[in-house]
Amino acid sequence: MRARKLRKALITGITGQDGAYLAQLLLGKGYEVHGVVRRSSHAEVSSHRLRWLGIENDVKLIDGNLNDLSCLMRIMQTIKPDEVYNLGAQSFVHSSWQQPLLTAQVTAVGVTNVLEAVRIEAPTARFYQASSSEMFGLIQETIQSETTPFYPRSPYAVAKLYGHWITVNYRESFGMHASSGILFNHESPLRGKEFVTRKVTDAAARIKLGLQDELPMGNIDAKRDWGHAKDYVKAMWMMLQQDKPDDYVVATGRTTTVRDMIRIAFDHIGLNPADFVRIDASLFRPAEVEVLQGNPEKAKAKLGWEAKITLEEMIAEMVDADLARLRRSEDIDPSKMR
Ligand code: GDP
Repeated sequence: MRARKLRKALITGITGQDGAYLAQLLLGKGYEVHGVVRRSSHAEVSSHRLRWLGIENDVKLIDGNLNDLSCLMRIMQTIKPDEVYNLGAQSFVHSSWQQPLLTAQVTAVGVTNVLEAVRIEAPTARFYQASSSEMFGLIQETIQSETTPFYPRSPYAVAKLYGHWITVNYRESFGMHASSGILFNHESPLRGKEFVTRKVTDAAARIKLGLQDELPMGNIDAKRDWGHAKDYVKAMWMMLQQDKPDDYVVATGRTTTVRDMIRIAFDHIGLNPADFVRIDASLFRPAEVEVLQGNPEKAKAKLGWEAKITLEEMIAEMVDADLARLRRSEDIDPSKMR
């Protein structure tokens, strides 16, 4: 019997939360995993997430940039990937008002660069675009599905909407196997601290250990449909295993306020959030997405995908991971612990 050809995957944004979990998933399935990383003379590649998952030496990293088409073409030509996952982006909503043009160049036009490189140099590769529930923004339906009209509310969401439509357009124009996953918020211990869940779990751990006394917060009445990144990267892979490319909402179907998410984190360490949370007006956004709640029925019916990890389980995992990290890295005074 002939050995099955080793499947090759290329991931942009491999050093981010989703890139790291996706790389782990694909390595477990026997893929050869390549990742595009941005490198500059003064900054080392930040591989701490890959290291945390113990896969730093198992992935092959290659220098590249979503804004450099010639380099992306060379990467496709050299690797000839079977699957391309475009997860690279300027992905923090709040910064997108400070850096609207950079956000457009990377998060919007960057998608066309990757699609062009695939179309020209690896035309049989399957393509995944990381789209976002932020595209629903000022929601037009209480529960958002693949057919809900979009109404982006930040430069980030506007850029993501371009990325979504250019993916659909390349599928329809060139017959590419290009799919777009509209992922609702997904978190984990590998989430950056600029996002609200990780900010809260890190602060809860610091407060518990006596390293911090208060938690400044923005709009805690906002509601999000939060799932676990480890569950969500499975949906990405499943989309590329389908005979036909398509678009899918990936969500839990449950929405929770930031306020309740904070309560879940503080319950886990036995403290009362009211004693620590302080509302800070500077953390409010120029335009807010008040509520998001996804309908994952299509992903369930067509991909057989379902979110498995609950918000309570995820927040507990994140708080425990932050407690462990801080215990390793900080000088803790036992008399100050709460
Ligand atoms: P987003 O949904 O991609 O913007 O993810 P975030 O985790 O950054 O924010 C989720 C929600 O939490 C938004 O509605 C924010 O306005 C709200 N929020 C309230 N306080 C904070 C805060 O201190 N930091 C962040 N990042 N978000 C906050």
